[in-house]
Amino acid sequence: MKTLCLLLALALIAALPMTALAEESSLYVKKVENLPEDFIFGMDASCVPALEQSGVKYYDFNGEETDVYKVLADNGVNYIRVRIWNDPFNSDGKGYGGGNCDIGNAVAIGRRATQYGMKLLVNFHYSDFWADPAKQMVPKAWVGMDIEQKTEAVYQFTLDCLQQLKDAGVDVGMVQIGNETNNYMCGEKTWFNIQYLMQAGARATREIFPEALVALHFANPEKTGSYDNYAKKMDYYQVDYDVFASSYYPYWHGSLDNLTDTLSSIARTYGKKVMVMETSYAYTGADTDFNGNTIGDGGAIIKDYPFTVQGQANHLRSLTDAIVNNTENGIGVVYWEGTWISVGGESWEENHALWEQYGSGWASSYAAAYDAADAGRYYGGCAVDNQALFDEHGKPLESLKVFRLMREGNEIAPVADALEDVTIICDLNAPLALPETVNAVMTDDSKQAIPVQWNFTEEMDSQMHSSGVAQYTITGQAGGMEARCYVSMVEYNYLRDYSFEENSTAWQITDLCKADELYIEDKKTDSLTGTRHMHFWSAAQNSVEFTVEQQALNLPGGKYRFTVSIMGGDAGATDIYAYAKVNGETVATAPMGITGYGNWDTAVTPEFTCADGDTVVVGVYVKCQGAGNGAWGKIDDALLNSVK
Ligand code: CA
Repeated sequence: MKTLCLLLALALIAALPMTALAEESSLYVKKVENLPEDFIFGMDASCVPALEQSGVKYYDFNGEETDVYKVLADNGVNYIRVRIWNDPFNSDGKGYGGGNCDIGNAVAIGRRATQYGMKLLVNFHYSDFWADPAKQMVPKAWVGMDIEQKTEAVYQFTLDCLQQLKDAGVDVGMVQIGNETNNYMCGEKTWFNIQYLMQAGARATREIFPEALVALHFANPEKTGSYDNYAKKMDYYQVDYDVFASSYYPYWHGSLDNLTDTLSSIARTYGKKVMVMETSYAYTGADTDFNGNTIGDGGAIIKDYPFTVQGQANHLRSLTDAIVNNTENGIGVVYWEGTWISVGGESWEENHALWEQYGSGWASSYAAAYDAADAGRYYGGCAVDNQALFDEHGKPLESLKVFRLMREGNEIAPVADALEDVTIICDLNAPLALPETVNAVMTDDSKQAIPVQWNFTEEMDSQMHSSGVAQYTITGQAGGMEARCYVSMVEYNYLRDYSFEENSTAWQITDLCKADELYIEDKKTDSLTGTRHMHFWSAAQNSVEFTVEQQALNLPGGKYRFTVSIMGGDAGATDIYAYAKVNGETVATAPMGITGYGNWDTAVTPEFTCADGDTVVVGVYVKCQGAGNGAWGKIDDALLNSVK
């Protein structure tokens, strides 16, 4: 019996590590050191009720349909942020959309957050619809109020909303007075007026929830000096607040170092807590609800990580680490609308009907009554469904676990998570060599070259070489993922700094007659392309004679032609030509002339041949007698192209 007990005990101990691995996850997560127990991991989940009315269901990691606020709480989210619009409905009671986020919606969400042990972060827009740096429209009911009346209105509205939350037993931890109030708020455009409104909101908050933090929220930390200016204004007007909060969307909002430096400076100078009030990251470039997304695979955006579930987690982890370890008084990070997913219809029409009826899209057509210029024209669905932490069916993405995993880390062996695209520029007359490996972005964000198999045939090869200048996408397989190689078939230019833009030493200038001016000039209006070109001028007669030439490096043996352009004037008799030399011997020339400002003359030499290893030099010889104000000219855009 005793032996059996011992065996059982041993078996239990052996089984323990398995059950203790509640955090078992395929996510790679490096531990965030010094992460405080009470660090704010927030989720703006304002749209959930409207989505649920539209038929959306949420699930936990076991696949069980569950209250999404419980799923969030179970995964380390400890704050729910909710926006409040004063009256997001038209005169027929039709909602403007974006969740129709009035105080009733906030109370319903607040109850659920409180039920699962999370605090509520109340986000007053003091508008009837979206407020952001570009838009701070006054609520309908407050139109025409002077600043004194509006201040009282803000105070009463805040007081009333917070009282409703308090009466409902909601645990309010923070109240945000205004949303992204960069120089505008509630229709006011001067800080002298805005500060009254902020004071009023803060005063109401202190009365109803004296324990809650009062936050102000701004955007665009990348705009140098702007945050310091806001903080200085708040200080000057003695606005009563605790937290200086920032949006941080990495695609637009500058570097993490800039963010943490900027926030730290405010924390230090004004003794405030600081935090990231909004952030998000795409887990896919794809759209799931027939309404195009703000962030896709293309466009001029900063993409620090691949658009994958792991990429989302890596963004959140690095941002959290930066706020915890690189920011003074950093208290939290709030993810924006990570629960806003597709309403699930099979077509735009189906979804559109739901967006209109329940306000589950970013704006309904009814918003035209309030915001005709924007929402009234571009109303539709969700533009951030690819940045949610739930998939289109409401199943949590593995990235949702990052909040918990950051505490202890989950530093498992990294695996390939995404592939870097390959870009090749290939001369039409040169062989196309596709690489044998592509770079995989590993789950720990390191890079590793892995073998690739391209879907590339001889037929494709010859077709690409015989179809002129064109772009192609070649696909392949690497590490179980699709690799892409973008090939541009071009008339390749074998010269460096062909347009004189780089101030490089590629060009050799030899002044044969002491010209007054002979240099590369930065003057867009005098350049053929770009802003720079080769410039010459000399007052005296017969004082312009020079060559400007370049030796082509590693030129493969073959047939070539050289092209270059010139303009100028006051030249008198001239001897100007483009030339090519092979091993010191001139093998091709083309005459050039200068006839006046803007009259670019483009010379193309006859074809010439060189062998591998030959020294090939191309250039322009210029000799002007000069007339009038002295000969002058500009040389630009030199091309050394292969010829079939
Ligand atoms: Ca969408």
